[in-house]
Amino acid sequence: MDASSKTSRTVLAPTVVTGGASGIGLATVREMLRRGHNVVIADANEASLAHASSELAGHSEATCFIHCDVTDETQVNDLFERVHQRFGPVAGLVQSAGIGVESAFFETSVATFRKILDVNLLGSFIIGRAAARQMRARGGGAIVNVASTSGLIGNAGRCAYGASKGGVVTLTKVMAVELAEYGIRVNAVAPGAIDTPLVKNMHSPQTRESLLARIPQRRYGNPEEIASLIAALLDDSQTGYCTGQVIAIDGGMTAVGLMAARPVSSSLTQTNT
Ligand code: NAD
Repeated sequence: MDASSKTSRTVLAPTVVTGGASGIGLATVREMLRRGHNVVIADANEASLAHASSELAGHSEATCFIHCDVTDETQVNDLFERVHQRFGPVAGLVQSAGIGVESAFFETSVATFRKILDVNLLGSFIIGRAAARQMRARGGGAIVNVASTSGLIGNAGRCAYGASKGGVVTLTKVMAVELAEYGIRVNAVAPGAIDTPLVKNMHSPQTRESLLARIPQRRYGNPEEIASLIAALLDDSQTGYCTGQVIAIDGGMTAVGLMAARPVSSSLTQTNT
């Protein structure tokens, strides 16, 4: 079924997607609509919201577009009040709002470091806590945080971004442990290199080249590949016993040790067959 076409639908529990107006978030919105959910698209970028709203005009009954900065607690509380009024208590949350910067350790300013932590980590806490309060009152729910492979391993140029995503990894685990008794599951995906507007700004040609050399599948992923994993993690019937996990989806990048490919000319590759 094409998410851009209007169809009769069985309405499933509402899902909020932060950063839902672009990239991985927008692909997740399309996937959740395809699965029959009501979806609230929360984003800080008005132009992207307008663009996404016109793309999804055929889904006006099932969608709600809300301007919200995830770092602003008042805006976040207002967001969840509006979600409740429009669709009832939130059952699913995807935290895809995020910003990135490629900046060497010595050249990273305190202001930059603080800004990245503010949006990626503190924002995840603010939104996650507000959603979990509604889920607790509702009797359960599922949350998926979008971390990054940069939060799992030490990528050069990612001191602020990597630290923020490492924080998201730990936040995910703590939330999973504390919220399990309320029927709330919390997991994270850790995408590798995914072709989205964020990456187009962040990855220089040199970064792209050196990443491709480290990815066994020798390509960037696409947002839809992340969206289907996120949707499965939100779905109790598929992943009901999975919580507190961080799943890398990266073409094999974090599986690599010293060599990303077999040496092409080596005595080990010569056989007598
Ligand atoms: P994107 O730039 O296409 O989308 C991010 C969205 O977040 C944008 O619409 C932006 O307006 C929104 N946003 C930014 N700050 C916000 C704020 N304060 N409040 C609300 N919304 C805000 O980027 P993307 O590549 O789709 O990234 C989505 C998530 O995936 C991010 O958390 C990013 O760190 C993560 N990620 C991306 C990649 C990749 O290769 N693209 C890899 C690993 C992790």
